[in-house]
Amino acid sequence: MQSIDSILSEIFHLPSFRPQQREIVSDVVNGRDALVVMPTGAGKSLCYQLPAVALKGLTVIISPLISLMSDQVRQMRALRIPAIMLSSAQSWDEQKAAMGRLREGFRGLLYVAPERFSAPGFLSIITSRKLSLLAVDEAHCISQWGHDFRPEYLRLGEIRQQLGNPLTAALTATATAEVREDIVKSLMLKAPAIHVTGFDRPNLSYQCIEFGKARDKQPELLHYLAQRKTGGIVYCSTRKQVEAVTTLLHERLRGRTVVAYHAGMDGEARDSNQQRFVDHDDAIAVATNAFGMGINKPNLRWVVHFNIPGSLEAYYQEAGRAGRDGQPAECILYFATADVMTQKFFIDKIGEGNENLTAREISLLQRRAGQQLAAVQRYARVQRCRRRQILEYFGEDRAPQNCQCDVCRSGPRHELHYEAVDADGPRAKSLSGRGVATRAAVTKSTTGTSTSKAVKKNADAEVDASQVGRLYGPAVEQRFQRLRALRLQIAQRKKWRAYQVLHDATLIELARQRPRSMRALLEVKGIGEKKAEEFGQELLAEVTRE
Ligand code: ADP
Ligand code: MG
Repeated sequence: MQSIDSILSEIFHLPSFRPQQREIVSDVVNGRDALVVMPTGAGKSLCYQLPAVALKGLTVIISPLISLMSDQVRQMRALRIPAIMLSSAQSWDEQKAAMGRLREGFRGLLYVAPERFSAPGFLSIITSRKLSLLAVDEAHCISQWGHDFRPEYLRLGEIRQQLGNPLTAALTATATAEVREDIVKSLMLKAPAIHVTGFDRPNLSYQCIEFGKARDKQPELLHYLAQRKTGGIVYCSTRKQVEAVTTLLHERLRGRTVVAYHAGMDGEARDSNQQRFVDHDDAIAVATNAFGMGINKPNLRWVVHFNIPGSLEAYYQEAGRAGRDGQPAECILYFATADVMTQKFFIDKIGEGNENLTAREISLLQRRAGQQLAAVQRYARVQRCRRRQILEYFGEDRAPQNCQCDVCRSGPRHELHYEAVDADGPRAKSLSGRGVATRAAVTKSTTGTSTSKAVKKNADAEVDASQVGRLYGPAVEQRFQRLRALRLQIAQRKKWRAYQVLHDATLIELARQRPRSMRALLEVKGIGEKKAEEFGQELLAEVTRE
């Protein structure tokens, strides 16, 4: 077998492996199943492409998206590596030709979508061939915990058995433990080598901007894009939004290449828009999440999310398309209550028209989707280092250094921000482009009434406890409630008003951080030496009681 280093340089024309690629490729060419968890853009494709070349024979790559497949087939052919695909987007003749080559013993990379295995003609040909390698790309689609669950992926374990349990590599950018377990279990991988590389992308600066009124997003976006001459992606959550934003940019950014992309467009228009995006350095793509997988454009300097996506996995994956070249890039999330409504609407539609799912499975999926939505809302609202939040979400417990996120740049702000409220809603506009979790917005959205005068810079206005629960989870909510009861006792004892003891924002922070020592307690915003001395012990006892 040709050495992996010589294949890398002579066939892939790449000077060196990226972190972990060598280890993964070695494992696979040595016949060990592998589960590869690497962030978007880290270079997962090479982890099966190179072994496919080294092992010769037939490698089947299962991939969920046609655009991704055709992109890779193009790339492989440019490198003179034999590659074919079978997809429903091909003409009947093309499909027949590909099937013919398979029957005649094609060796190289065959890209297929999972549903292809339901076609009887294909199954009988493919099971008659011996596979050198089976690669399952975007393998999180197997998991109902993944952000992109696809029922067709559930059958892959069975299909793998029918193929005689070939050597298998499963790859994903989603790293949560549940997803990882689901992949290994569903594919029935035997003692796979598990490679998880870091999710930290130090060159990305994350930023969240909360809008009280969704319509304020458009001027903000125009302002932002007018200052940037480089290309990037504006992600929207619906086709309608894609169309509205595209129209806006066409009108207001004359001379810029602006292309739309969503699943409702016909294949030809999508392909040509994608190509224009790749061809023009300064092109702006306005797209739904259908766009981007497999696009090879490492020099994107920014990705703006015009609406909040359904999960932090999705956000990380989409935002992560910026700065794949390692140079600084910006990831900005626009966020308004209306976006959450859109996502909830999507959640309600989960399972609609899918006869393969039982009512119980559907409600489970919906519950999980709800939790994922809550997590990404938390990310957008909580004023803690964004990078750190992302790393924690993916199970990395590490404080990033020299972070450039909006929170780190402006200093941590642990409290909820208090703002005046207009009669028609919170004035929660972006304050010099920085995310603000407004107390007003919080209060308004729970009570459903305008709380105008009541919350005006008013530190003792009550935060709705259930809203705390929604933002931070039930454990924090319960702790918060208990701390409130304690505050009441202290206030009665001292004949103070409750807010003179501690503000709700401080109670929330206490409930979240659960300080375990006097020193840690003093670090909580809103607790000074004096208060710590007077009732610090009581607070500590309460938050550490569980
Ligand atoms: P992923 O699937 O992990 O999101 P890709 O496989 O699409 O990432 O790779 C992202 C980009 O990195 C592609 O442009 C690819 O050509 C490039 N790439 C991968 N490995 C290397 C390497 N060793 N050296 C240079 N570029 C690489
Ligand atoms: Mg990939």
